[in-house]
Amino acid sequence: MTPVTESGGHPIRYRDITGTAYGMWRCSVCGELGRLHAALPRACPDCGSPREALYYWAED
Ligand SMILES: [Zn+2]
Repeated sequence: MTPVTESGGHPIRYRDITGTAYGMWRCSVCGELGRLHAALPRACPDCGSPREALYYWAED
């Protein structure tokens, strides 16, 4: 698994679920992991942290 963050100016390497890998997101505050459907949720459903606390998680 490769964590992909939005910080540091790195482009988001999000692959659509129709590709070989499906996207997930992860909360940097509580560690909640969720399936990524179209985009990041507006806030973490577990701890309520804003979207800025969430980052893309690519699972190969
Ligand atoms: Zn959270």
